Amino acid sequence: MEQPIAVTRQSFDDWMIPVYAPADFILVRGEGSHVWDQQGKQYIDFAGGIAVNALGHAHPVVKAALVEQAGKLWHLGNGYTNEPVLRLAKQLIDATFAEKVFFCNSGAEANEAALKLARKHAMDNYGSEKNRIVAFNNAFHGRTLFTVSAGGQPKYSQDFAPLPGGIMHTAYNDLAAAAEAINDQTCAVIVEPIQGEGGVLPADGAFLQGLRDLCDRHNALLIFDEVQTGVGRTGDLYAYMQYGVVPDVLTTAKALGGGFPIGAMLTTDALASTLGVGTHGTTYGGNPLATAVAGAVLSLINTPEVLNGVKQRHLWFIEQLNAINQRYPIFSEIRGGGLLIGCVLNQDFAGKAKQITQYANEEGVIALIAGPNVVRFTPSLIIPEADINEGLARFARAVARICS
Ligand SMILES: *Cc1c(COP(=O)(O)O)cnc(C)c1O
Repeated sequence: MEQPIAVTRQSFDDWMIPVYAPADFILVRGEGSHVWDQQGKQYIDFAGGIAVNALGHAHPVVKAALVEQAGKLWHLGNGYTNEPVLRLAKQLIDATFAEKVFFCNSGAEANEAALKLARKHAMDNYGSEKNRIVAFNNAFHGRTLFTVSAGGQPKYSQDFAPLPGGIMHTAYNDLAAAAEAINDQTCAVIVEPIQGEGGVLPADGAFLQGLRDLCDRHNALLIFDEVQTGVGRTGDLYAYMQYGVVPDVLTTAKALGGGFPIGAMLTTDALASTLGVGTHGTTYGGNPLATAVAGAVLSLINTPEVLNGVKQRHLWFIEQLNAINQRYPIFSEIRGGGLLIGCVLNQDFAGKAKQITQYANEEGVIALIAGPNVVRFTPSLIIPEADINEGLARFARAVARICS
């Protein structure tokens, strides 16, 4: 048999378009909340593939669903429907406010669909003047041109001008500013219940409720981007359930496939009819392989045991992170919900989040950043207590080094 091509971290720089700056080691295997690199070094995984591997690595039930479907049918194209996609749609409908579902392959695509739905719904019902989208500073909605424009970090969009028009940004958690921005020309408001990439910043309940009221008053659609907060991440299946504020459209991806690419847009019957035959679509969306895996993931996560377990694990993390911060005061705030946790660096350590995660890697734990000043944790929702303790002991050693 032919030898596989030899690859090292240098190969990335040699062969890959340099949009990422990955760590200087290559992970080759994962099991539960442990991963191993090419040299056989073991790490505790507190990143979970950026809030994706919600059941850890190689979960036996998810793997069985993948293998079973792999032996049956991978792909058909949307001229033919399939059993796994219909079952997953019904699971999502039964579990949420939604009455109809559209499947795609990523968070950006789900948001793209949501924004297009909002534009067309307004055009069909109120005319072409009603086309404005209100979004928030520091928001992240994906990397397509429309979603990067809706995102609230100009550094991700400005180099790609001209951008889609009609999008304005206002301050997150500032209801008065939102009330000035939202008017009868607004077709949609898009918001993350917890800003993830923007620094793990939770919305105030009154802010989300206020947006709901403003959208109702001005016939605008309220879109919740739950790509990061969804599928159990915050301890409820979706974060809107905790807030008691129901959106018109919800987008979900990341954890939905547990590591297999899939995204979805959830909405009501009335709004779904906006997108008639031929108005939107995607080749791979709702393919049987992705939807079989997501069906297994959703069944495993949407149980009181797993969701309550997320709330319990949140407390374990917060308690130990506070203890670390007592010994080495580097955080000004520890925030977030469930297993989406952000540790905000204080003035003395501003800008050092990346360096802390590099030290953490050296100590044997994988952590994330959310901007230059926030260390972020998004581990498996079922990470064992012993792995939390060991991973945080390793993280404490990284913090000790940054302080010394
Ligand atoms: C990750 C993320 C996206 C983009 O998802 P992709 O799958 O990378 O396209 C959109 N919105 C939020 C809130 C996210 O965290």
